[in-house]
Amino acid sequence: MIKDNLMDKIVSLSKRRGFIFQNSDIYGGLANTWDYGPYGVELKNNVKQAWWGAVVHRRSDMFGMDAAILMHSRVWEASGHLSSFSDLFVECKDCKKRFKADVLAGKNNKCPQCGSALISKPRRFDLMLKTSLGAAEGSSEDVYLRPETAQGMFVNFLNILDSRHPRLPFGIAQIGKAFRNEITAGNFIFRTREFEQMEIEYFIRPENADKFYKQWIQQRFNWYINLGIRKENLRKKAHSKEELAHYAKACTDIEYNFPFGWSELEGIANRTDFDLRRHSELSGRKLQFFDARTKKRFYPYIIEPSGGVDRSVLAFLVDAYREEEVKGRKRVFLSLDKRLAPTKVAVLPLLKNRPRLTKLAREIATDLKKSFVTVYDDTAAIGKLYRRQDEVGTLYCVTIDVQSLEDRQVTVRHRDSMKQDRVGVDRLKQYLREKLVSG
Ligand code: ATP
Repeated sequence: MIKDNLMDKIVSLSKRRGFIFQNSDIYGGLANTWDYGPYGVELKNNVKQAWWGAVVHRRSDMFGMDAAILMHSRVWEASGHLSSFSDLFVECKDCKKRFKADVLAGKNNKCPQCGSALISKPRRFDLMLKTSLGAAEGSSEDVYLRPETAQGMFVNFLNILDSRHPRLPFGIAQIGKAFRNEITAGNFIFRTREFEQMEIEYFIRPENADKFYKQWIQQRFNWYINLGIRKENLRKKAHSKEELAHYAKACTDIEYNFPFGWSELEGIANRTDFDLRRHSELSGRKLQFFDARTKKRFYPYIIEPSGGVDRSVLAFLVDAYREEEVKGRKRVFLSLDKRLAPTKVAVLPLLKNRPRLTKLAREIATDLKKSFVTVYDDTAAIGKLYRRQDEVGTLYCVTIDVQSLEDRQVTVRHRDSMKQDRVGVDRLKQYLREKLVSG
């Protein structure tokens, strides 16, 4: 069964093939911190690009931005993070494992790891990561690494209004790093202390909040499905009143069926006018919208779809993982959507010790690189080269054989079906372009 040890298989493939490595590995590693390797960075960039295309470039009501990670400390006072961004955690006195206190609900107050009933009293833990600015000793100032990218968009609300003059509804979108001092980090890149968010703040008239809240939940759900996540692995889960964050009137999570259980990929919240009001109170600037029709100023409501880049990468990897038997041997491949696949084409000479053959293969690879993300590999026998490319989800393998030197034709092998086509070198680019556009 694929589901068995699926996380172990994903972690091991990620390291073996260059997707994701343990951070500071040669020093024993820094817990819950991961680095993206050559294929990982391509996949991650493709996820971000797919998001940016869908929520910024292909819409006319959205503006992108990129705020700094460090912000004025009063931002966190206004947002409520300084007073209430903390978690309650408990520790099992037997196995010493720490859990968020809410994990024990429904488990009879027993440790989910070892079943012990010896659980410590809940303690509060501050989630904000602090650092200091200023050169001279004694004159430094405490600042925080942002725990969400959202605030960078709220404090730029007037700048967007004044520079782009949007009408309501409109939104601001941003992708960037966020930091949280998580107590129970884990499950590979699912929960880390440094991660990337893809967030939208969508400004609307208060009376339209329900409509846009529902619309965004559906649009964000469809985004994952459109990029290949199987429908049965995705669900929506509305928060109960008790689960809502201090700023939210409603929130729905989009959850993915990870090997460790259903867990949040993205949350869509109705943040009301909480943030704009709070920043107005503390900054003295009125973060309001001027309605030219009624000549009145008011605080718009905000719908916030907030997703994690790393969690999406993990969901796409898990969902794309396939094992099948081909001629008595196991074949592992990543059936990633063509937009997400880290490499589109691999050029592989059938024999590595024939200079005329590798020369032609290199020439073809150099030419293809101008149009597609292409790799060239001649460091193993063809069977092994195919296995490597399957495991990283490369869409098309172009094989150059002895016959190619005579007839200037190459073999194109399709990742999922393993179907092979013979294509003339002069037509190859056009052939691949058509496949990559149409599927
Ligand atoms: P959780 O309940 O899992 O801690 P959250 O509800 O605190 O998540 P949000 O504050 O809503 O998360 O953040 C929005 C998104 O940012 C999440 O849906 C998730 O994709 C991502 N995210 C949040 N915390 C982390 C983390 N520690 N590591 C990786 N991604 C994260």
